[in-house]
Amino acid sequence: MTHNFNAGPSILPREVFEEASRGILDFNGTGLSILELGHRTPLFESVLEEASQTLRELMHLNSDKEILFLHGGASTQFFQVPMNLLNEEETAAYLDCGVWGIKAIKEAKLFGYVEVVASSKEQGYTCIPKNYTVPDNARYFHFTTNNTIEGTEMFSIPEVNVPLVADMSSDILSQEMDFNRFGLIYAGAQKNIGAAGVNVVIVDKQMLGKVHRKMPSMMDYQLHIDNGSMLNTPPVFAIYVCLLTLRWVKKKGGIAAMETLNKAKADLLYNTLDANPLFKPTVAKEDRSRMNVVFTMDDPEKEKQFQEACKAANMVGVKGHRSVGGFRVSLYNALPLESVIALTDLIKSF
Ligand SMILES: *Cc1c(COP(=O)(O)O)cnc(C)c1O
Repeated sequence: MTHNFNAGPSILPREVFEEASRGILDFNGTGLSILELGHRTPLFESVLEEASQTLRELMHLNSDKEILFLHGGASTQFFQVPMNLLNEEETAAYLDCGVWGIKAIKEAKLFGYVEVVASSKEQGYTCIPKNYTVPDNARYFHFTTNNTIEGTEMFSIPEVNVPLVADMSSDILSQEMDFNRFGLIYAGAQKNIGAAGVNVVIVDKQMLGKVHRKMPSMMDYQLHIDNGSMLNTPPVFAIYVCLLTLRWVKKKGGIAAMETLNKAKADLLYNTLDANPLFKPTVAKEDRSRMNVVFTMDDPEKEKQFQEACKAANMVGVKGHRSVGGFRVSLYNALPLESVIALTDLIKSF
């Protein structure tokens, strides 16, 4: 068995891969591949409809929330968000917690004023800032719920007086939250929801219609809403894989069940790392991500040996991001507990 700890694209449930491959050869007994269906056919429309409905159900979204499946990855949302929500003379508040947030800040500056209300840069991005104020006149407050590269995660929603906008690319569907409190949520699908090539955007209708700039049609959330995520040809296969993953999450007991399992996996790994003096988790305890566990070892020679040991045990994706070094182990929803047990056994014996 290969243990897949990749950070993204990453592990999905085995049954999703099986069903998706059947769909490539013969979609639901139609004699047609999912890849050759017209997107404006009832067959594909039902895929899109069920994917939206299942996500709405899993996240308990109210009727003000619109769900879109868009192209371009989360990185496109870094600029599509301010383009749609922020006028040039207005200010948006941003939290700086690492690589992805920094990229979002850079893009937002192209469209209006950006106030970085707090940063964990001085702590090497090993924690989430707690005490900060967000100005009441900010159009929105943007943050990354899980910092995929640095291994920090937010476990509660900030209490502020402006609409919340969150990049949930790497922890969507992994923990319960009151998602209705957000003005906008976006996530590239390739970590917890499905295949690369599609973005999930959940936007509250009240957020839209307030900017006066002209924008290309493909960038306009309202046009995508008016056209039911079919302004142009949507990424049909990537959406189909999302549907299959969403069905799997529902069958397993929804987000609450995912959270319980994710807690168990993360606790097991962090406790094992804490108990072995050779390994050093880098993140402050209360902010440790359940999705991406980052750690180093004192001795570069030991790091090399541990890499080799992982390789020999069929573990892939344990190497840290090039900007952080050390190790990063991703424990997304679909990663089975057995893989974490295998890794912790290796750590204990090392
Ligand atoms: C992976 C990731 C991104 C970038 O996603 P792309 O789809 O490659 O653009 C952005 N934000 C977070 C939190 C991520 O984990």
